[in-house]
Amino acid sequence: MKIQFLGCGDAFGSGGRFNTCFLVDVADTRFLIDCGATSLVAMSCAGVDPNSIDMILLSHLHGDHFGGVPFLLVHAHSASKRDRPLLIVGPKTTEQRVMESLAVLYPGSQNNPWRFDLRFEEYEVEQDWRSGPISVMAYQAAHSAGEGPACALRVTAAGKTLTYSGDGGWSEGLAKAAFGADLFIAEANFYDKPVKFHMSLVTLIEHLGEIAPKRLILTHMGDDMLERVKDLDFETAEDGKIVEI
Ligand SMILES: [Zn+2]
Repeated sequence: MKIQFLGCGDAFGSGGRFNTCFLVDVADTRFLIDCGATSLVAMSCAGVDPNSIDMILLSHLHGDHFGGVPFLLVHAHSASKRDRPLLIVGPKTTEQRVMESLAVLYPGSQNNPWRFDLRFEEYEVEQDWRSGPISVMAYQAAHSAGEGPACALRVTAAGKTLTYSGDGGWSEGLAKAAFGADLFIAEANFYDKPVKFHMSLVTLIEHLGEIAPKRLILTHMGDDMLERVKDLDFETAEDGKIVEI
């Protein structure tokens, strides 16, 4: 499983990083985990063709995690003449929220007669969701993003497990999602500031022993984390970084 961090920033572009968007290649499938508002730009910077993506898997419906979807759809329909099918998978209300965002940003585009096969699927919390060789278990995160749940995602394919925390403070759901993962990509928005609905590194460290991921990479870092990065004994994400598990 190959993972490229196209965007690993927080909601506000701290450090000039793009919003969350991870490119995953596994078992002949290419998909994005999250597609934040800046993701089409991030793909262009990394030389990734949006038309090469089969699926977009969303952790939750905040703009820095799904706000790039309307841009990608309009680009696919009007500019790049996409003909490859696209599956968008997310929590309940994903299709409704994507269509509403299209209507706001590009009025009328929500009614496009899509020139490619566009499908939506909505996963249920703690129920196995599958597409071919890819299995996803979504766990409730300590975060709030409207009507649909905000989730931590445990993705299994080709015998490897990748967990992405999504956004959120410590929770039982996150512990289940990350337990023993080959790679745990974890939000560390703050260093030690206690903020409801977001994770601090200090809190994460308190719980690392109980989840024991094989590899940990910190993401979604705000300014106070970025200022400390060089002194930290933790692996951190960078836009463009590629890892294989
Ligand atoms: Zn976020």
